[in-house]
Amino acid sequence: MSETLENLYSETRTFPPPAELAANANVTAEAYREAEEDRLGFWAQQALRLSWAKPWEQVLDWSNAPFAKWFVGGELNIAYNCVDRHVEAGHGDKVAIHWEGEPGDTRAITYADLLTSVSQAANTLTELGVTAGDRVAIYLPMIPEAAVAMLACARIGALHSVVFGGFSVDALATRIQDADAKLVITADGGYRRGKPSALKPTVDEAVAQCPSIEHVLVVRRTGEDIAWGEKDLWWHETVEQASDKHEARAFDSEHPLFILYTSGTTGKPKGILHTTGGFLTQVSYTHHAVFDLKPESDVYWCTADIGWVTGHSYIVYGPLSNGATQVMYEGTPDTPHRGRFWEIVDKYKVSILYTAPTLIRTMMKWGDDIPAKYDLSSLRILGSVGEPINPEAWMWYREHVGHDNAPIVDTWWQTETGAMMISPLPGVTASKPGSAMTPLPGVSADVVNDEAESVPDGGGGFLVLREPWPSMLRGIWGDEQRFKDTYWSRFGKGAGAGDEWVYFAGDGAKRDEDGALWLLGRVDDVMLVSGHNISTTEVESALVSHPSVAEAAVVGATDPTTGQAIVAFTIPRGNVDTSGDAGEQLIQDLRNHVAKKLGPIAKPRQIMLVAELPKTRSGKIMRRLLKDVAENRSLGDVTTLQDSAVMDLISSGMQAGKSED
Ligand code: ATP
Ligand code: MG
Repeated sequence: MSETLENLYSETRTFPPPAELAANANVTAEAYREAEEDRLGFWAQQALRLSWAKPWEQVLDWSNAPFAKWFVGGELNIAYNCVDRHVEAGHGDKVAIHWEGEPGDTRAITYADLLTSVSQAANTLTELGVTAGDRVAIYLPMIPEAAVAMLACARIGALHSVVFGGFSVDALATRIQDADAKLVITADGGYRRGKPSALKPTVDEAVAQCPSIEHVLVVRRTGEDIAWGEKDLWWHETVEQASDKHEARAFDSEHPLFILYTSGTTGKPKGILHTTGGFLTQVSYTHHAVFDLKPESDVYWCTADIGWVTGHSYIVYGPLSNGATQVMYEGTPDTPHRGRFWEIVDKYKVSILYTAPTLIRTMMKWGDDIPAKYDLSSLRILGSVGEPINPEAWMWYREHVGHDNAPIVDTWWQTETGAMMISPLPGVTASKPGSAMTPLPGVSADVVNDEAESVPDGGGGFLVLREPWPSMLRGIWGDEQRFKDTYWSRFGKGAGAGDEWVYFAGDGAKRDEDGALWLLGRVDDVMLVSGHNISTTEVESALVSHPSVAEAAVVGATDPTTGQAIVAFTIPRGNVDTSGDAGEQLIQDLRNHVAKKLGPIAKPRQIMLVAELPKTRSGKIMRRLLKDVAENRSLGDVTTLQDSAVMDLISSGMQAGKSED
């Protein structure tokens, strides 16, 4: 992208917070003012949400930028903050996790239960020789033991590296090797799509390539037969027999907490390193502020997998540090039927739901009648994360899930940022469909041009963060240079321009005429058409705004006349006829629809109607693979792809579609 990004889409709908919510909100507009006046003082105030064994001496040490230290000299134990202190405060009987297995089995785990399990697991890990600073790989389904394992590591100062349970032998082995992990915690399997899905065989194969692994701790979930080796230990024969007394010692605020690899949407995943005090401060604060969490009455549900950063920050550390009651679900949204999610909301009276655009678009595709069958009136706040949410998907979420009563918080952040950075506050912000609106209090996000100058309202460019924040990454595991190159060498001091360090997020963004922020997809995906930089997000959102479309992905393919031309891959809604002439007509309508919404410059050269899109296992569209297809290249790295058969289908359709265009 040589120049700034075009701003083509304009949105006039706006939704103020419900009056009652605004009147009782945890956080008011005052927070922005306080943070504006004294940013470090503001974060110091938020850090007091936590119990510190030793107070810090300095809020931020940025003298070794871009390596930050927050709450310097302070000491705390994360597990104590997430578990013990709630029990000490008399909330031992409160449910921390309502767990729902895919087959329908359930468990209610109180904070007292959690304390027992985490203490037992901490004792077992210690017995197995795991000490502070060691790395532990966690490869588990969505069962409560996943949270217990993470907290047990944190309790003894060992770093966890959670690897998503759907990843292959290769992905698991390279992550174990990269972190030099000593122990793997896994399960025989989990339930997915109505049947047991084994995990242990994958671990066996991976461990055979990983000499650093001394033990494999195995939770029994499915009871299926598995091979048993000399490194293997059952969780129920070790952890569940261990002493439930464990004293949590405090660790330095900058003690490393975990390594987590990014989703791999753009390329080779990076092992992002997070530490203790700053991370917990920001996840705890944002969970309280953005979801307006009332721990006494709310039932919170984040549908992410624990293998992604959203699961780390907003299933484990944020909610538990706040003493929340939450739902955790093991399985897929369409097992045994497409209403499963809404059934769970109804059953547990979920009041705060946090999910991803991919899920919302899938639900849109399945049809409005499905959520309509359930009582969703308990919902009072809806969240979105992971990708830009198309305005039409946002409206669908608001109408068919929130029944026009529940504000939507579209939260922008990354594995690297550790916690939410840009989002509406539900009791303060009048939000617009598709916009993440404003940086949270204490966060300084900006949209800039090539020279790192802020673009004016109405302009597009690169998303940057101008000031360090508490939950920021502290590096890429084992690769200092890649850390500097990836995030700090595009703008500011690291690029030899000026005295300030400027973090480059890799995403495009715009500031609309009212100053609201819109995320426009990855900078690498921007399409250069006849000299105009066009974001994938705006064209995709224009396609999704057509009543026949559920989902769309666009890429810029090399074109002899325009440099690049827009090629769109579009999934029609469930009830749309796409056969023969009707399909041809729809394609023409869609091309015209985009041109009408965004101007002729954005009219796709070609539109493919497809049944599925290539996605990462976290559900994000992998445009780089579609670009390979559109440009007739062999496919790049597909290891993070959810379902590789999708690409064969799309490629063959593409060949057929080409000759007709
Ligand atoms: P990789 O860095 O390996 O390519 P990834 O960027 O998909 O993978 P994550 O850290 O899980 O890995 O995702 C963060 C990215 O997701 C952001 O940089 C942004 O592109 C996108 N994203 C997350 N939330 C939002 C949101 N609310 N609006 C728009 N985009 C979002
Ligand atoms: Mg990324």
